Parts: sequence; C-alpha cells; structure tokens
Amino acid sequence: MLKLSLVALLIFSLAWRLTPTACRQTNASPNIQQIIAKQLQSYMDLKTHPCENFYQYACGNWQIQQQEQHSPRDGQWVKDRAPFHGQLIPSDTLGLIDQSVNRKLECVLRRKNESSSELDSTILEQMRRYYRSCKRLRPYNLKKYLLILPPSNGTQWPSVGRGWRPERFDWILTLGRLRLHGLNGVLVREDVLPRWDDSRTYCIYVNKPSRQETLPMGEGAVIELLLDIGQTKRTANALSRLVNDFEQKLHRLQELEDDELGAREMQLGYLETYLPQLRWLSFMRQVRTDFELDLHSTLIIENIPYLRALSDLMDSEEPETVCSYIMLKWLTFLKQQGPADISRSECVASLRRAMPLASSWLVGQQFSHPDSESNVRSLFQRLKARFTQILAENRLRLSSPLLLILQQKLRAVHLQLGFFQPDKAENLQQYHVHIDLSGHSFYGNQLVLLRKRVEANHNLVFMSSTNSSDSNVSYLAESWQASNSSPLYVRPRNLVLVPHGLLQLPIWHRNISDLQQHAVIGFALAHELAHGFDITGIDYDALGNIMGPIEEIGANMHFRQGFNCLQQQMGTGSNWIDEKLADFVALRLSYESFFGLRVDKKRRDPLMPQFSQRQLFFISFAQFFCSRTPVLSQGSQSEAHLKHAVNELRVIKTLENFQEFSAEFGCDKKSKMQASHRCRLW
Ligand SMILES: [Zn+2]
Repeated sequence: MLKLSLVALLIFSLAWRLTPTACRQTNASPNIQQIIAKQLQSYMDLKTHPCENFYQYACGNWQIQQQEQHSPRDGQWVKDRAPFHGQLIPSDTLGLIDQSVNRKLECVLRRKNESSSELDSTILEQMRRYYRSCKRLRPYNLKKYLLILPPSNGTQWPSVGRGWRPERFDWILTLGRLRLHGLNGVLVREDVLPRWDDSRTYCIYVNKPSRQETLPMGEGAVIELLLDIGQTKRTANALSRLVNDFEQKLHRLQELEDDELGAREMQLGYLETYLPQLRWLSFMRQVRTDFELDLHSTLIIENIPYLRALSDLMDSEEPETVCSYIMLKWLTFLKQQGPADISRSECVASLRRAMPLASSWLVGQQFSHPDSESNVRSLFQRLKARFTQILAENRLRLSSPLLLILQQKLRAVHLQLGFFQPDKAENLQQYHVHIDLSGHSFYGNQLVLLRKRVEANHNLVFMSSTNSSDSNVSYLAESWQASNSSPLYVRPRNLVLVPHGLLQLPIWHRNISDLQQHAVIGFALAHELAHGFDITGIDYDALGNIMGPIEEIGANMHFRQGFNCLQQQMGTGSNWIDEKLADFVALRLSYESFFGLRVDKKRRDPLMPQFSQRQLFFISFAQFFCSRTPVLSQGSQSEAHLKHAVNELRVIKTLENFQEFSAEFGCDKKSKMQASHRCRLW
C-alpha cells in the first residue's frame, strides 16, 4: 500500500485557510489552477539542480511553507492545544489529509442532529457518545482497563491491587480473553481471513506472531508503561529486566523453521490431541463465549514447531513474568487505540480507530462527490487500459496461456471508493444496533467496540459464501487500514480501495488538470493496481485465491532478470521489493496514460511557462512525497526520520529508473539521477 508516504502536493496551505476549524462549508476556489501553480513553485528549491537531487529540487521548501501556514497566527484551531512547538505540522500529505478529515468529522459530531434518517441518527448518536466520553477523560488512565478486565475471573493483574493469584493464572486463557477484545500477535496470532483456496469464505488461521511483533519492547518503554499504571520506579526497573529477558527468549523462537508440512488444515477436535500442550480449545472458548464450539470445524495452522516450543517456554517461566508481559503488550495495544492526548482532534482520531466502519460511512457522506467519483473511475480505467497494452506487448515473452491468466486477473482488478459501500448501510445499522455505548465511560466503550469487531469477524467463518459479495472487506475492520485515508490493495479481493477522505486537497480536486490528476491520484491508483502484479500479488489469481501462476512466471528468464535487477537496487534497505516494483510500474502507467492521451505536448502551462508538460508531471509526482524532516532530538532515529528518508529515496529511485525523466531534464550519464542499470519488470 501507499503507506504514509503519499505526499503534499499543491495548494495545501491556501486550501487550509479555506477550511479552518470553524464549522462552515467552503466552496472550492474557481482559481484552482492558479492556486496549484503558486503552491507547486513555492515548494521548489531552484538552487538544487534537478539531476543532482530531484527530491530536494521539488520539495526543498515544503517544510518552510508548511511552517508558515501552520504558525500560530492562524490561532483559532490551536487554542485548545498545548503551546505551539512546531509539532502540529503533519509529517506528510496523508498526515495533512487525515488532519483535515478529523476536523470535518469533529464539526459533524458537534452539530445538532440534522439528519432525518433513522439509520443516520442511530449511528451518529453512537459516534457522539464515544466522542463525548473521550472528551470527558481527565486524564487518560491506562490502569482503568486493567481494573475492568482482569486476566481471568480468578485473579487480578500482578501490578494492580492485591488480587494477584499466580496459581489461578493461565496464559492461554488470558490470551483468549484479550484476543476477544482485539489483542493479537502476542505469543500467537489468530486471524479470520479469506480462505486461501476459496477467497469468498473465511477461515481461522493460527500462526506465530510476526518478527516485528516479537521484537523486545525495550526496557525504557516497559518502565514508562509501568509508571503510567502507578508502579514505583524500583518495581518498574526490576520487572522490566525480567520481562526483557523473557522477550529475548521469545524472540529467539522466531528462528525455528516451519516443518516440511507447512500450513495444515485441522479440525478443532484433532488439534487438541495433536498439540495438547497448546490447549487451543481453552483459547477458543474465551473468544467464542456465546457459542458451543464445533469440534469438527477446521482451522489452518502454521509454524507448529514454534507453537510447541512456545508451550515449553511458558511452562518454564514464572507466571508473574508471563502475565506482566501479556499485560504490557495489552497496554501498548490499548494506548494505540486511545487518544494520543485529550484534544478534540485526537478524540476524533481515536473514534476513527474504534469505529472504523461507522467513521468510513460518515467520511463517505461528507467527502464523496459524484463528479469526483466518476473522474477517479475513468482515470482508473485509463490506467488499466494502459496496463492491458503493456501486458499485450509481452516484453517478458510469456507463453500464451500464462499471458491469458495475467490478463484475466487484470480484468478482475476493480476499484472501490470508500471502505463501506452505501448500499450496505443496513448492515451497518445491524452491526451497531446492539452496541451499548455511554457518554461517560470511555474505557468501557473502547472494550465494547473492540469486542464487537472480533466477534463480527469470527461470525464470518460461519457465513455461507453466497452471502458475501466479492468486495466484502469488513474483515479488515480489525486492522489499522480501516481508520486512515491511505489507499490500499486488498489481494484476496483484487480490489483497489480508495477511502473517500483521500479525495480532497492537497491531493485531489475535481477541477484540477488532467496532468495533475495523472501525476498524483493516478500514480496512487496505479501503485495499488501494481500490487496485484508484484511478487506477492502474482500469487493471487483472478478469483483472489492463492493459486496464481507465481512459479511459472518465476521460471521465466526475463522476469528473473528484472527481479534480480530490482534486488540489486535494494541496497538502500529502505523499501520492500514489492513497494519498489509498485512505484516503478505506477510511474510508467500514470505517465504513459497521460502522455498517451491526445494532448498537445508542446503546449506549456500559461501559469508555469518555464516548465514543459513532462517536467511538470515529474515535479507534481515528486511533490506527492514531500515530507517533514523531524527535528533531531534524543532517540532521533525515530520512525519519522525513517519515513522521511524513505520518501526521498522513493522519489529518487523511481525517477532514476525512468528513462524519460533524464531525457526531459537533460541529465547526463554521470549525474546522480541516473541508475547505472535501469530495472523494468513488466
Ligand atoms: Zn504499496
């Protein structure tokens, strides 16, 4: 997916002034082209030569412009926040977009109910209750969750009160209880996902956590959490060392290889005899509290050697260490769900995480516009048409049956605007009708909503395939993707999903030029489309089943050459190969789709006559990735630094592999913006 790296294009600041916190409707400026032209030029650093560092050339002044636009003289919307320290400048375009979405939603939540529809008012009322309960938090206190939900009915958490009974603690039971409330990837992963061989039905997958998920939290982070819930420094120090030792041992289990048999489908009853030490039934009974378990139902289980070793590790550890570890992971998870601070917009951000389906529906109501929708759809069709031509050119010289499979798959890839389809609004009401939220109980609300999501996902397993339409993506409601504005590709659905929130300035306006459309949203759509044909995506066929022709294509010499070339360029370590591939394909698709249109290529933009159309295309594309360079501080190798570096590299690597770029800017062979070997796969 495009991750958090779509970036600032154009007119943000002017648009910003038109849409401050004051909850009034604004009309788009009729001079959108002028605004864009002015903004585009203001971000550029013309002292840098485009062949030296194109990112700096296109984005060098972005941050300065943002700082000016976000300075406190726009005082209105900073008044209920901490003093201004430059922290309010979003790190990149998606940050800008999400800030703007949050602000708009906040206005809706604060308005009196204007809607006449019963459906709207039910869902809106629940969203308001959540929002109000968040606003009433003084302060946000993680310990409250621990009091509401103990590890089991027989014991309290070791760090809370005096009710800790180690003999009553059972790690798998606690894990099941927290899984029901949204925790996952701690000691084990349990997911409800489309079946690999029949993507319209669902199955439970059991696996080890990812490598990322078992990375030790670090003693500093552990101590901070423990102090948050009222531990003394001394206790926190001692406990953090114990937990850290445990985490190291746990992380080492990652090295265990899966046995030859790999993923296996088993009946629930059989798993209990095959792997009794895991006691999976105890786990499932916590997750499916209201249902009698069907021992004949199946699940898909991977990494059995890990699961065996995990059970042994659990037996050898002190219950207090294990229980504290689970508690700390639980608190970390809850902290991500809650508001970062108790400001209005943070409460909206938390609302979007807690109620992703309802929020997506509301964002759709606020942001969708029929013109935008049809423009984006026809842009997507143009990109697909160009990709169809590229496949037909058959650079890789694939056999005809193989080519046919790829063409079928490309035909199957479709676009959906909004996470939640309007015609599914009744389902949405069904989903919310039994949720009991209170305007006074933030912690309780949070747990109710988390539980509802996990229950709804597990109910999918029992749904017959005829009830699920091809594009049903509700199973993603548990993941973070559901709560932001980044576009994404859903592999088992062959679906490019564009949240409505994305279709706004600075990325989109229905009156922006064709060139801007192609260079920005066109690139984003093409990037997601390309994920259907990256190394992972090829594994999925036109039905979304993991039965794609990856082996046959992998055996093709030309494909391997392209793949090796990409791998050699991975030296920067900044990017997954699939992301790099998607960027390369996307630039070509969006560029060729636009310049393949009947456009007068000689004509220059009268507002920016100093640039050719092709130059403008590359500048607009690059400005999509402009981002903030974080201020160096303690622990400065932060995520924000990494993100910035990734954005810069993405622009440079993508352009230096694109011949038309160096030709247009006259970069010679020795310049930095030219790769020694250009990679191309498709
Ligand atoms: Zn991507």
